Amino acid sequence: MNNDIEEILFDRDSIHQAAQRLGKQITEDYAGKRPLVLSVLKGAYLWTGDVIREIELYVNLEFIKISSYHGGVSSSNEIELVTDIRTDVAGRDVIILEDIVDTGQSLRFLKDLLADRGANSIRVATLLDKKGGRKIEIDADYVGFDVRNEFVVGYGLDYKDLYRNLPYVGILKKSIYTKD
Ligand code: 5GP
Ligand code: MG
Ligand code: MG
Repeated sequence: MNNDIEEILFDRDSIHQAAQRLGKQITEDYAGKRPLVLSVLKGAYLWTGDVIREIELYVNLEFIKISSYHGGVSSSNEIELVTDIRTDVAGRDVIILEDIVDTGQSLRFLKDLLADRGANSIRVATLLDKKGGRKIEIDADYVGFDVRNEFVVGYGLDYKDLYRNLPYVGILKKSIYTKD
């Protein structure tokens, strides 16, 4: 599995440091509030575990599952809501936890959904920000790392539902996804 990686970009320690930095900022920004942390499955599950442990506030935690890649290496325009939440978000301060913002389409979909349901505020904390991939003008509020326009895997991020368990984020060798 490690042989399929071209280059390691962010290791466990640097990701942990990013989680500490963001968690501290979120703790300050939401002082006196009880935010609803909305983790986007499956990619954000490890990152979520890191970040929530650094937030020193009462928080609620929910998981939503959407699909945009359909197994490949480029985003599709159609976002599908796979598993919804049951919690009422009306009046809530929602912090979306994402693995990576690329085209911005998933984020647009989620923010519109939450706004339609009456969320009081919506912010986004993403592990990775691939600004070079944007098709829609939208930004995350809290960013772990900027990442260049390459297809990355690990630390929750997958290719064909594999590599999520790598303890780092790295660039997947092109030979892995061009051969099939
Ligand atoms: P967007 O809608 O912003 O184009 O893409 C968001 C989703 O596409 C991410 O949450 C992630 O699941 C997937 N994605 C975007 N770029 C990458 C990447 O470089 N590697 C992996 N594994 N997934 C990505
Ligand atoms: Mg995602
Ligand atoms: Mg994926």
